[in-house]
Amino acid sequence: MSRYSLGGLLYEGKAKRVFATDQPDLVAVEFKDDATAFNALKKAQLAGKGAMNCRISALLFEHLARCGVPTHYLGLDAGDRSSHWMLVRPVRVIPLEVVIRNVAAGSLCKQMPVELGTLLEPPLLDLYYKDDAFGDPLLTEARLERLNLVSPAQRAEMERLARMINTELCGLLDRCGLQLVDFKIELGFTQSGELVLADEISPDTCRLWNRAVGDANDRILDKDRFRNDLGGVVEAYGEVLKRVQAVCPEPSIYG
Ligand code: UDP
Repeated sequence: MSRYSLGGLLYEGKAKRVFATDQPDLVAVEFKDDATAFNALKKAQLAGKGAMNCRISALLFEHLARCGVPTHYLGLDAGDRSSHWMLVRPVRVIPLEVVIRNVAAGSLCKQMPVELGTLLEPPLLDLYYKDDAFGDPLLTEARLERLNLVSPAQRAEMERLARMINTELCGLLDRCGLQLVDFKIELGFTQSGELVLADEISPDTCRLWNRAVGDANDRILDKDRFRNDLGGVVEAYGEVLKRVQAVCPEPSIYG
């Protein structure tokens, strides 16, 4: 059994709820079945999504930790909540979304003359200001400086970690027959000031294409199935989980 008791709700986002515990250095994250897209204009309930994203994130966080990436993750919950709850270290999340793109897709193709599927070498790194009220805008260097959220050294460390995460995830997912097209991460500072990977890494936050499939829609195994009304969203997430599980050890249980 878990050696903690659940406290009050600290924060509710679109896909997760974060709860305090009786321990100051421990918070509990619940992954919800809610699916949202286009700044929450499109909404649905997808039964089982929360549990799959929780497990995929746990497996990927543990893989990254073995590769030397510091993360907020501590383990999956034991007992009743095990399927869609994880325990993490509390972090002050930096309101910057770091996106790495290995292949052109999504907003990049809407904003630049680059064809869907173009390989981006070196991978493109984009920073967005995380604020729904402003629609999570893409930042320029000057706006980033003006926001003054991180020092130049912290910014450099964020980008170093993001590129390291990309290299390690590409390697792992390649072994699963999956192409990591692009993904978004969030980073934050722990109570001791360490910069760590936070939030989640799942088909909600990554574009993943089945390498064995050529068709531009059929190859999609991520949230684009929901965004573009392709159907089979939960089945696609289940396929990603099955493949990642096959190449990773069982995730650890907290406590
Ligand atoms: N992404 C995300 N949350 C966001 C915006 C983007 O997880 O608020 C992910 C998205 O799933 C994709 C990558 O970041 O894997 C790049 O997304 P893009 O900028 O193309 O935005 P989109 O048009 O897909 O929202």
